[in-house]
Amino acid sequence: MTLFQHVEFDHHELVQFCEDDSSGLKAIIAVHSTALGPAVGGCRMYNYCDEAAALRDVLRLSRGMTYKSALAGLPLGGGKSVIIGDPMRDKSDELLSAMALFIDCLGGRYVCAEDSGTTVADMRAMSRHTSFVSGLDAGSLHGGDPSPSTAAGVLKAIQVAVEHRLGCDNLRGKSIAIQGLGNVGFHLARYLTEAGARVFGADVNADHVNRATSELGITRVAPDEVLSLAVDVLAPCAMGAVINNESLASISAGIVAGAANNQLERPEHAQELRDRGILYCPDFAINAGGIMDVHCQRTGTRASELSSQLDLIGQHLRQILQRSDREALDTHSIAERLAEEILHSAQLAQAS
Ligand code: NAD
Repeated sequence: MTLFQHVEFDHHELVQFCEDDSSGLKAIIAVHSTALGPAVGGCRMYNYCDEAAALRDVLRLSRGMTYKSALAGLPLGGGKSVIIGDPMRDKSDELLSAMALFIDCLGGRYVCAEDSGTTVADMRAMSRHTSFVSGLDAGSLHGGDPSPSTAAGVLKAIQVAVEHRLGCDNLRGKSIAIQGLGNVGFHLARYLTEAGARVFGADVNADHVNRATSELGITRVAPDEVLSLAVDVLAPCAMGAVINNESLASISAGIVAGAANNQLERPEHAQELRDRGILYCPDFAINAGGIMDVHCQRTGTRASELSSQLDLIGQHLRQILQRSDREALDTHSIAERLAEEILHSAQLAQAS
C-alpha cells in the first residue's frame, strides 16, 4: 500500500518522515491543511508498537486538528507530529533538538506544542532551535501548559450535555468517570470535584491515580472497569480509539464527553452509540480549549478573552446536539459537517 492509498491519508498537504541516527530520533510530521492558517498541533511522544501505528495516529490526529480549529473559529490549520519512543526512557536534549530542526525546515507550515508525552520544558528546549513552537509562554494563564484550558472546555461541554440529556443546570451529585488522570484528566477531576460531582478515576500510571485520589479525594477504579461503570458521564482522557467494537457494548454511561483525541475507532461508532441511547459529544468539538489557549499565547491575547473563547465550546456543542436531534443524525457527523462548511467557505474565499 502506498501513502496516498492509506485509509487515513485524506489529502494531507505534507507528510514528513524524520530520522536522525545520532540522537535516535524517529518521527513523523503531518500537515493536513493550511487552508485557514499555519498548521498548529501537538508533538506527541509515544511508544508505538510499530511505525504503521505511528503513521496512522499522526494522520488521524492531524486531520482532527484541521476540524477542531475550524469548528473553534480559529485562523489555524491542522497538523501534528509524533516521536516514536518511550518519553520516560528515550527522551533527550539531543533528540528534541533534532526534532526541532526538522520542524524548522518546514518554515512555519507546522507549529508544534505540547501533547501526550511532551511538556512545556520540552517545548522550551525545542525553541532554542526553531521559532515554530507554541505553548511556552511563561506569562500565560498556566505557564504555557494548555491542559487546564482543555479541561475547562471539556467541563463546559459536560455541563451542556448534562443539561441537554438530564435537564439539570448543575453537576451536583452527578457521577462522572474519568479514564486517564494525566495533564488534562487531573484538572478535569479537580473542576468536577469543585462543581460537586462524584468523580471516579482510573489510570494505568499508579503515581497519577495516587495524586488524584490523595489531592482531590476522587474514587479510584481499575483501568479495565472504568469504561463500563454505570455513571452519568464517561470522560475518556487517555488515548484514542477507546470506543471500538469490543468496548461499545459495555459502555453504560448516558453521556460520553472527554478530552482524548479520536475516541471513536471508526466514525460509524458514533451512530452505534446513538442507537444505544448514549449521547456522544464529539471529541474535536469539545477538546479545543488547549488549541484556543495556544492561539491566545501566540497572539498575546488576554486571559479574559480566552475565557470567552472557552464559552464557545459549550455554545458549539449545544448547536451540534440540537442539530443532531433535528436531523436524526449522529453528533460526530454533524460536527464534521459544520467544520467542512467552514473549510469550504475558506477555500472559496481563497479562490475568489
Ligand atoms: P497525558 O499523557 O498527560 O495523560 C494521559 C493519561 O492517560 C496518562 O496518565 C496515562 O497513564 C493514562 N492512560 C493511558 N492509557 C490508559 C488506559 N488504558 N487506562 C487508563 N489510563 C490510561 O495526556 P494529556 O495531555 O492529559 O491528554 C489526554 C488526551 O487528551 C490525549 O488523547 C490527548 O491527545 C488529548 N488532548 C490533550 C490536550 C492537552 O491540552 N493536553 C488537548 C486536546 C486533546
